[in-house]
Amino acid sequence: MTNSIQNIGGIPTKSEKLIISGPCSAETELQVRETVLRLAKTQKIDVIRAGIWKPRTRPNAFEGVGRVGLEWLVNAGKEVGLPVAVEVANAQHVNDALESGVDILWLGARTTVNPFSVQEIANALEGVNIPVMVKNPINPDLELWKGAIERLQLKGVKNIIAIHRGFSSYQKSIYRNDPMWEIPIQLKLKLPEIPIICDPSHITGRRDLLSLVSQKAFDLDMSGLMIESHITPDEAWSDAAQQIKPEVLNELLENLVLRNASATSLEQLGFLEKMRTQIDTLDEEIIQLFAKRMEVAKVIGQFKKDNKITILQTERWKEIYNARKEMAEKLGLSVEFIDVLLTTIHQESIKQQNKVMNSLKDL
Ligand code: PEP
Ligand code: MN
Repeated sequence: MTNSIQNIGGIPTKSEKLIISGPCSAETELQVRETVLRLAKTQKIDVIRAGIWKPRTRPNAFEGVGRVGLEWLVNAGKEVGLPVAVEVANAQHVNDALESGVDILWLGARTTVNPFSVQEIANALEGVNIPVMVKNPINPDLELWKGAIERLQLKGVKNIIAIHRGFSSYQKSIYRNDPMWEIPIQLKLKLPEIPIICDPSHITGRRDLLSLVSQKAFDLDMSGLMIESHITPDEAWSDAAQQIKPEVLNELLENLVLRNASATSLEQLGFLEKMRTQIDTLDEEIIQLFAKRMEVAKVIGQFKKDNKITILQTERWKEIYNARKEMAEKLGLSVEFIDVLLTTIHQESIKQQNKVMNSLKDL
């Protein structure tokens, strides 16, 4: 582990970002060794990953090679001088991995979702000094993700990294798992000390979208990437469509643009300051306008009360909604944005009128 310029979550890195790669699953000793050798050759990888026990959604799929794979992975990691990481889903996995000399552990999305499993793993890790990565739960539940991290912290795990791998959604989308970027952003705000890396492989489920999502992760200032790689991706025993060859990964990483987390020159700072002042003024104006609008809504509420008119006038609302939407679209605002905004304003307006009508204190 030479050339390391810093560490992220207790793991030394070669660049400003933590880069993790390796196959979805360890399949054979040969496949593990060759993948690791070719990954090491890129000089860009900090940690090798491989699934040994695979949580599959349905039975009769390949569920991992089990314990024997630990040795393949640890040996290959030692050969190239890189730390290795595996997914653990229970205390037995933790003990087997530690016994075999695995350097880093991670909790998969199907484990983070279950507080019993997380607690069992946290208990098994008490007093053990090893970095642990925690994938987001399958469902978009920020508290569950945070809770898993806290369970580990309470047992003394010091080096924790969160992995954003997207969320299951019933809605059809180009992604295998909806990224819902606002959730990792919220996690960052709530737990600023925990680095977050992105797993574009499980977000996209397809290799052609990997670089797009990786760039977005960098642009959101995430601390690194976990990307699955395989020597013959199309023949992989699990997640074939999303894996790429180590050489393709090398190219992907080379083409990613690293932007600065903040302005670096006085000129840049000056420009940003000017623009931010404009934003501050505009936000103030918007809030004042909202307040004015609500005052008018209250006057209408009083009027409706005095004249025994109902609050909700469906026809009027439809008119408002369509007219505003048309105007917004003409000004280049997105339909989704304006839809959420108008609905929220309308809800608040009804709430204010209801307060006036029924002399309610707060709803
Ligand atoms: C994996 O990393 O191979 C895996 C099973 O991922 P997830 O837990 O994100 O589904
Ligand atoms: Mn996988």
